[in-house]
Amino acid sequence: MMPTALGSQSMPGRRPRLLLVDDQPANIQALHRVFASDCQVLMATSGARALQLCRDRQPDLVLLDVQMPGMDGHELCAELKADPLLRAITVVFVTAQDHPDDETRGLDAGAADFITKPFNPAVVRARVRTQLMLKHQSDLLRELAFIDGLTGVHNRRHFDERFLAEARRAQRSRSPLAVVLADVDHFKRYNDALGHLAGDDCLRRVAAALRTCLRRPTDLLARYGGEEFVCLLPDTDLAGAIGVAQLMEDTVRALALPHPGSAGCVTISLGVAAASRGQGLVDAADKALYLAKANGRGRVSWVDGPEEA
Ligand code: GH3
Ligand code: MG
Ligand code: MG
Repeated sequence: MMPTALGSQSMPGRRPRLLLVDDQPANIQALHRVFASDCQVLMATSGARALQLCRDRQPDLVLLDVQMPGMDGHELCAELKADPLLRAITVVFVTAQDHPDDETRGLDAGAADFITKPFNPAVVRARVRTQLMLKHQSDLLRELAFIDGLTGVHNRRHFDERFLAEARRAQRSRSPLAVVLADVDHFKRYNDALGHLAGDDCLRRVAAALRTCLRRPTDLLARYGGEEFVCLLPDTDLAGAIGVAQLMEDTVRALALPHPGSAGCVTISLGVAAASRGQGLVDAADKALYLAKANGRGRVSWVDGPEEA
């Protein structure tokens, strides 16, 4: 029987990323042959290496051998399911013998399915396809839950989650991470003068303008609350982030939205901070934002980042 293609139904727009974990390279090779044409395939011969790959590459699904020396399949599965940043990864166990005990233990630990060796390629393919389809659907739902309803940019929840992940990554790779906080100036007066609906419209326009200022796919813009936006810039030092913030200030000013409650048009104040660790970074950006407000609004201020502990 001709195995059916994985890609079309399961993951429109992008090839699913699969991680194969087995201490026997021959088993990995056999699975690789099944999936190489439809998936982006990562491979690991130990639990420890697999965990590292999950952190660095975020596969959609792990095909996981139960018995391995060192960290075995059950332990790795438990690690993945205990980590809020990794628990969305689907785990499918591949095991030599079908002990019902093994199976219950695996499913209890959060595995989605169980495949026994020796496996039939068409069956493995079909089961993985089903799991990838479910993963894709839950990704879409999660994505929707992470969008701000008014402005269409990401919401605070998504920022918090990404911030945690990027802070970890920055610390591990000793690369700088920057945060920019932007707050609309005298927005209460804007609402008071033009009404709340006009205020909402203003926020949508400001959000759209801010979005055009981000260039890298890893940059993130989110509504932090009310009339405040936050921007997460991985691999960006203070000077780079100040540049982005200045562009944001210019871009919003260039919209030239009349602001009846102030002398001219709508402006934003921005606070910038950068460091190679996340702790205190948002607070530091908030301090910088306070400086920008105190120094006259419609400008960018920065601090040298959170003091090292
Ligand atoms: P400052 O320059 O110091 O930031 O002054 P401000 O008036 O912008 O700051 P303040 O925090 O006093 O007021 C924020 C205002 O933003 C008050 C609130 O009603 C308004 N606001 C918050 N969220 C929304 C929203 O979703 N829609 C609208 N239209 N207004 C909002
Ligand atoms: Mg404000
Ligand atoms: Mg505010």
